[in-house]
Amino acid sequence: MKKNRDDFTEKTKRSLRRRAGTRCSKPDCRVPTDGPSDDGPDKINNIGKAAHITAAASGGPRYNKALKPEERRSIKNGIWLCANHADLIDNDEETYPVPLLNEWKRKAEESAKDEQGKELPDKQDAVNTLLAAATGQTSVFLPNLMPNASKASSAYFEHLDPRFTVETFFYQGVTHHVIHPREIVKFNLKIKSDFSKEFFEKYTALQEHGKELVINSSAVDLSGSPLLEKLTENFEGKFGVSSLNKKDIVLRTWLVSPEKEKELNFYDLHGNAVFGTKSMTAKSSALNGLVSAVINFSVGIFLNPMEGACSFGLTFQAWDKRLLKTLPYFDKIYDLYCKIHEGWNLHFSLEIDGMHLLSAHLTDYAKSESFLQEFRHLYFIHAVREGEA
Ligand SMILES: [Zn+2]
Repeated sequence: MKKNRDDFTEKTKRSLRRRAGTRCSKPDCRVPTDGPSDDGPDKINNIGKAAHITAAASGGPRYNKALKPEERRSIKNGIWLCANHADLIDNDEETYPVPLLNEWKRKAEESAKDEQGKELPDKQDAVNTLLAAATGQTSVFLPNLMPNASKASSAYFEHLDPRFTVETFFYQGVTHHVIHPREIVKFNLKIKSDFSKEFFEKYTALQEHGKELVINSSAVDLSGSPLLEKLTENFEGKFGVSSLNKKDIVLRTWLVSPEKEKELNFYDLHGNAVFGTKSMTAKSSALNGLVSAVINFSVGIFLNPMEGACSFGLTFQAWDKRLLKTLPYFDKIYDLYCKIHEGWNLHFSLEIDGMHLLSAHLTDYAKSESFLQEFRHLYFIHAVREGEA
């Protein structure tokens, strides 16, 4: 009997086993087939089998008489399975035909390749996630819970319409879905009549000034994409459209002394500018958001710096929860404000894509209420810091 079987060599069996990552190749099984044996410190307990895709002997499952004996015992005709599944495929050749087994083998080897060198998922993570789903409470802190939820949510929406990429994130208690079309997508947008006036005004502001259009999501009815329909169907939230006409900018800042003899560079602020048909708005910041500037100019055939507005200011929240003595950049900023108070002028130059677009300076800034308020605040912090020293 044994003579007529085209069995695998030991070497072939070992290769099949290791190429499948010593796991069963049935996609919904994938149990590890190797483990330590109680028989001795060097013994291995193997619950796997190198199964024949087409039978080793005539009369066996999926036997292919066209194959030569060496083809029948070649590694191409083998698949690594746990003992249960090796028996299963041999008892039911109709459910488990050759192409399916080849597909299992290909996928198993592909997964083994992917998994190699990677950490196994922690079983406790899955348990905790289920526990949280069932009780609404997490037993432990799950560091990957939020990123996983974001990924799952993005994958769900992208599956609805692969023409879009979807970013999902949570910020200040609100879930944001930002969708970017990968290609030009046509869709219909209907505005409910109650909101038509508000929408029209905001749409005009988007076109003319590049201002982000934000409206209650119940005002809009989208069709033409399953993703857009889903997003506006159930959600109580805000629907926003922002301009694609957005460019990265650098705002260079420097001070000029009252007699215009001296110049002193301050930091470069980075941000972006949005363009509409009538105006451009550039927002930029530096020092972790501590200083920021907004510049708004009319756009015609020429940029018209005479018809514009600049604002410069501090975001004191950037210093939240800091000790007064350790406020980052305090001395630099205090010095800047003192000089402006003494009559130095703050100058800007705006660069878009490395091209100088315009220069401007703040006139009468030192007399403005916003400056004086910030300066008083800084003066007070300075006094406290000096007092503590
Ligand atoms: Zn199995």
